[in-house]
Amino acid sequence: MSESAKSGMTVATAFAGMRSVTPVVYRAGCPDCRARFELAASALRLAIGASSRTTFYSFTCPECGAAVRKPAGERIVELLTGGGVKTLRLHSTP
Ligand SMILES: [Zn+2]
Repeated sequence: MSESAKSGMTVATAFAGMRSVTPVVYRAGCPDCRARFELAASALRLAIGASSRTTFYSFTCPECGAAVRKPAGERIVELLTGGGVKTLRLHSTP
């Protein structure tokens, strides 16, 4: 007579439905050492120039310490500013 009792198991909720505090991280890659990593908003800097050609974001590679600068399109600018990235305006609006 064998009796398998599965009554001791508790249902653990693996996910919480609402998360109000989600830290924003951005995926980035280093062209120097080819490392891939995630950066917090505070690790990024956004510089907005007069045109899209002078608009870029920069960060320091946590792996090799290289200063990386990449062009930022409209979409990226939106993402970065929305996430609280420090923005520097190189171009003074008339
Ligand atoms: Zn690197």
